[in-house]
Amino acid sequence: MSERNTPDPSGGRKRTDSFDRILFVGAHPDDAEFHAGGLMVSQARRGSRIGIFCLTDGSAGHQALDRVSLARRRATEAAQAAELIGAELEIWPVPDGELEPSLGNRLRLIEAIRAFAPDLLLTHRLNDYHPDHRATAQLVQDACYLLRVPNVAPGTPALRRDPVVLAAADFFTRPAPFRADVVLGTDSVIEPVLDMLSCHASQVFEWLPFISDTPLKGDPRQWLREFYGARPKALARRHAPDFTYAEAFEVSEYGHRMAASEIQQRLGVPLMA
Ligand SMILES: [Zn+2]
Repeated sequence: MSERNTPDPSGGRKRTDSFDRILFVGAHPDDAEFHAGGLMVSQARRGSRIGIFCLTDGSAGHQALDRVSLARRRATEAAQAAELIGAELEIWPVPDGELEPSLGNRLRLIEAIRAFAPDLLLTHRLNDYHPDHRATAQLVQDACYLLRVPNVAPGTPALRRDPVVLAAADFFTRPAPFRADVVLGTDSVIEPVLDMLSCHASQVFEWLPFISDTPLKGDPRQWLREFYGARPKALARRHAPDFTYAEAFEVSEYGHRMAASEIQQRLGVPLMA
């Protein structure tokens, strides 16, 4: 991503065949990789600038490490994963498990999103098992319209246009099940996604085997392929049967309105949903 800190060569003109700046706003270090690793890898390869925001420090998820040690380790892991695709990374010093959709966090997120100026923003859905995921989704939803309102967080210039906002797939059904508006087959990028996930060793090789009661046996890479792969395989079976692995996203009504077919086109993938 050699161009990411240089002036925009287009002179500010919008490309219409891709998304130039893609931002995943997640609750924890590793959420972006788990929910949109394939999208991030594929779009980084197409020249998009990728950003990853983690709104908490990830300091809760371990059976042996204390918060300070774990936060430090996870920051290193997340930086290594981001480096693999040249992504910019921001981790908030909010304790894992304690994120609130507060006014202060809303204003801070508005400023951070404005600074990155994404044309595509990815996040969690509002109904999700983890309170930090729900709070993140709420904060993004609350920020969306206000990104363009100059008198809100006036220290940073308001955006001229909202980003397209997509929520990553989940399997929760209440109050509404996930709707697969945008679907990407990710078979061709599964290995680099596993590379990114493997950077999060404190999670994928330590915490997740422990908390999910799925002991790590044999080759760790193969264990991860099966553990991680269950979700993208299920999504492929439902929404992209020509693929083994897929990611899917629901279009938010609160971002810039764009037809799912055009979003698919800009991501460089055929319409599957
Ligand atoms: Zn998470």
